[in-house]
Amino acid sequence: SRPEAGGEASPEKLLAPVLSSFWDQPDPWTLETYRRHDGYLGLRKALEMAPDDVIALVKDSGLRGRGGAGFPTGMKWQFIPQGDGKPHYLVVNADESEPGTCKDIPLLFANPHALIEGIVIACHAIRSHHAFIYLRGETVPVLRRLHHAVAEAYVAGYLGENVLGSGFDLELTVHAGAGAYICGEETALLDSLEGRRGQPRLRPPFPAVAGLYACPTVVNNVESIASVPAILHRGKDWFRSMGSEKSPGFTLYSLSGHVARPGQYEGPLGITLRQLLDMSGGMRPGHRLKFWTPGGSSTPMLTDEHLDVPLDYEGVGAAGSMLGTKALQCFDETTCVVRAVTRWTEFYAHESCGKCTPCREGTYWLVQLLRDIEAGKGRMEDLDKLNDIADNINGKSFCALGDGAASPIFSSLKYFRAEYEQHVTGRGCPFDPAKSTAWA
Ligand code: NAD
Ligand code: SF4
Repeated sequence: SRPEAGGEASPEKLLAPVLSSFWDQPDPWTLETYRRHDGYLGLRKALEMAPDDVIALVKDSGLRGRGGAGFPTGMKWQFIPQGDGKPHYLVVNADESEPGTCKDIPLLFANPHALIEGIVIACHAIRSHHAFIYLRGETVPVLRRLHHAVAEAYVAGYLGENVLGSGFDLELTVHAGAGAYICGEETALLDSLEGRRGQPRLRPPFPAVAGLYACPTVVNNVESIASVPAILHRGKDWFRSMGSEKSPGFTLYSLSGHVARPGQYEGPLGITLRQLLDMSGGMRPGHRLKFWTPGGSSTPMLTDEHLDVPLDYEGVGAAGSMLGTKALQCFDETTCVVRAVTRWTEFYAHESCGKCTPCREGTYWLVQLLRDIEAGKGRMEDLDKLNDIADNINGKSFCALGDGAASPIFSSLKYFRAEYEQHVTGRGCPFDPAKSTAWA
């Protein structure tokens, strides 16, 4: 859904539809529509440039990875060693699964050619002749659409041998995963793509040094790569005119929960949740914001005190959280924070791959304690125990899933300890679940 301007927000300043600029037009996913909107012009420009100049341009644009960590995209490309005699690979992480995150899948569904064009540009830059898209397997309609778009790109000469007569060859393979959250972790994804059980590898070496089939590999998020064609076409200064010095550019925000108009909203980095809510009709009528996540459930929750925090890496970091995937899940005053954290923790316990003890055992114990507290069987000392277990997971697990599982425990105890205590002293949940979930 494209945002409409509203409230006190200035539309020129806040809205920057680039990737979503023609999602509301008929058949936006076709090559014909994409070409009508400057599609593949960025690629033509890139093919006239030396690969290192393309890397320098993307680096100077300041584009940061949109998968959650915000690592500079151009720098990641620069890590790929040249002249090493090994094949290089680009792997696009389209295994979007973080709770609340819903921007890569809609982007692929509405505008798959932006990703394909970005892939060709990136492969030209890192001298790769084979790219892969690892798609979340449950999204079958997206898989079909992606296959269709890739076929169109081959026929039109954007993929295959001698791309647009440039002498550059590129094969693109679309692979559907089997629906495990851990396969979104880049090294588990690579194991899965190689045909093994998806479990994280030890880093370093990072994929840039030893990735797919032990060769130098760039693993980039869908939105990161799809943002590249516009940077090539319109320039780094245009990109830097949006957002902030350290977090420049436009991005897709997923807005969900007890809001009037959930959906994908595109704007510069650094706008605030208050502005986004103004543009999207606010919270559901008659209700107020209680807590929210800036980037899915693995980023520490914030409260209504943080409505004016700039949604960029530095702003959200200063508020004690992380920007992550920009999945803004908003919960109103009818929501039981203990119940929300229990559901998230059940998710992490279910998705834990079992490779390391702190996460495998810790998430299990967190769920047992949370369920007891929610059911009115908790004890006051359980609150410190929750904190202790989360502390033994955080920073002591093999991959970021463990840290993500600990995050809602810490932040909910920080802001809503009284609500946990209420569950213990009142022997149960004081909230009516029907009032909260009826809207969601
Ligand atoms: P990370 O900070 O460890 O790494 C980010 C990227 O930079 C990786 O590609 C990594 O290979 C690269 N990198 C980092 N240091 C490097 C170095 N020294 N040399 C070469 N490359 C280097 O983060 P991560 O563990 O890959 O990902 C965590 C993030 O994933 C979290 O911020 C979370 O928000 C996000 N996440 C997203 C989803 C989703 O569905 N999109 C799901 C879960 C988590
Ligand atoms: Fe697996 Fe969890 Fe350990 Fe990651 S932190 S390796 S998901 S057990």
